[in-house]
Amino acid sequence: MRSIITDTAAEFVKEQVNISIDSQKSSAYDAPTGDSCATETTFLFFDAHAHYDDARFDDEYEGGAIAALRDSFKAGVTAVVNAGVTIESSRALAEFVRSLSGDTKVPRMYATAGIHPTETGSYESLPDAMTELETLLATGNYIAVGEVGLDYHYPDTDREKQISLFRAQLELARHFKLPAVIHDREAHGDVFDILREFPDVKCLLHCFSGSAEQARQYAKLGRYFSFGGVLTYKNAAKTREAAAAVPSELILLETDCPYLAPSPYRGKINYSGYMMFIAQALGEVRGISAYEAAKLAHDNATAFYGLLSS
Ligand SMILES: [Zn+2]
Ligand SMILES: [Zn+2]
Repeated sequence: MRSIITDTAAEFVKEQVNISIDSQKSSAYDAPTGDSCATETTFLFFDAHAHYDDARFDDEYEGGAIAALRDSFKAGVTAVVNAGVTIESSRALAEFVRSLSGDTKVPRMYATAGIHPTETGSYESLPDAMTELETLLATGNYIAVGEVGLDYHYPDTDREKQISLFRAQLELARHFKLPAVIHDREAHGDVFDILREFPDVKCLLHCFSGSAEQARQYAKLGRYFSFGGVLTYKNAAKTREAAAAVPSELILLETDCPYLAPSPYRGKINYSGYMMFIAQALGEVRGISAYEAAKLAHDNATAFYGLLSS
């Protein structure tokens, strides 16, 4: 069942993961007893946030996104949530996920639909955009609204418009009773205040970059967090402190690939096969094994996205 993986990190991961290739993409963490493959050493990863529709996969990963997904599956990744960033990308994602649904050599794929805050300028009319997004969400092809939020990194951004778009999309999440995947870059105060208006919408603060104190405040409100490659960076003590501060039942892991590759691949293209590095980093900050970190993140992702019965 083993095929050649040229990437050195994939080799590393393969050595550490006793992969249950024939798990038929069900969760081996829930595998019935008697499955000899589902041992303590069977790592199964749930990548809670990724962008396999990003053009970087075509340009920088040999064989493109499909090859990256196949390699990820070999490295023990059983599920990936691919986030939408525009109406158009969200629409295309449903087709992408459908096209992979019969493929037993890639992780289970899920799509979210939403407009990323840095794409705010692409939409002239907020009501028109929301009508289109509502139509997409009504198809039932999406497991969450996202990624949505605020991004104040670039000084020329229209913050008021971002805030309007953020609120409108959270209203849609509420309407469809879907969870929301939140992007927050350099906008911690405003994101926190707006999310307080939506206590009934289950939220995941993806790639959480706030402080431990902010994390505790969110945790009190039952918000979920996902952590990625940043946990492995030398200069990310703040993020590690946040990851140590929140209850374990609220933590997910993600790659945000093709961005934010973990150390030692920082700056290169990222893919879900690197989840082991992230699980190890979470394990270190919480004083648990990488296996336990992967398992809790897997179980929490399944719960957050409402996949318990799938
Ligand atoms: Zn994001
Ligand atoms: Zn993202």
